[in-house]
Amino acid sequence: MRLLRFRFGDRIATGVSELGSDEVRVLRGTFFEDPVPTGEEVPLDDVRLLAPVLPSKVVCVGKNYAAHAAEFGMSVPEEPLLFLKPSTAVIGPHDPIRLLPISRRVDYEGELAVVVGRLARNVRSEDAFKFILGYTCGNDVTLRDLQKSDDQWARAKGFDGSCPLGPWIETDLDPTDVRVETRVNGEIRQAGQTSDLAFGVATLIEYITAFMTLLPGDVLLTGTPEGVGPLTAGDVVEVEVDGVGTLSNHVEAGS
Ligand code: MG
Repeated sequence: MRLLRFRFGDRIATGVSELGSDEVRVLRGTFFEDPVPTGEEVPLDDVRLLAPVLPSKVVCVGKNYAAHAAEFGMSVPEEPLLFLKPSTAVIGPHDPIRLLPISRRVDYEGELAVVVGRLARNVRSEDAFKFILGYTCGNDVTLRDLQKSDDQWARAKGFDGSCPLGPWIETDLDPTDVRVETRVNGEIRQAGQTSDLAFGVATLIEYITAFMTLLPGDVLLTGTPEGVGPLTAGDVVEVEVDGVGTLSNHVEAGS
């Protein structure tokens, strides 16, 4: 099942769509409070997809694939390396990634994104999947030069537009071995498998909720495979998670 947030005419709504269907069934309410169908259906082609959730925070994992850590001459840390993106970093499918004059190097990082479905605190890994609503595609857009020059990554990874999410939330997915592919202008740049994650989804949920409450709609970005690289104005970057779909954004010169 695919859960969507979208604009249709002058309305913003939530909806559900089955795999292979080109119709969206409109829902009343959010995904987290037993939404009910309104009975209305709209064509998927006629809606403008929005970021599927508005998280209170995005928790991100760095260096969670050994081959990516090796790109920077490092290895996977002994414990998950975490950082946060603010809610204002989130943009939706087809929204522009705007380059900033403060940076000369902006990189894509395609990642599996986990959407939390219920308030989660002190969750054990064996129970973790009960707290997950579903999965979407994420791009941990990074100002690589500032990541290297700043001790903390608030600028490098928390700037406006640094967290494209979408195109929707897939609720029926086993995230333990799916392909994560990133393309720039149609050319494959990253192709990883989540089976190579050093810390898997359930382990991460236990680790994070031992010290931080995750709220419904919060997002976990699980880390990026090898092959990160720069974006320039005019590029189209796509992140595809097998079994979920494709998130596409274009890159614009900003100011
Ligand atoms: Mg990342």
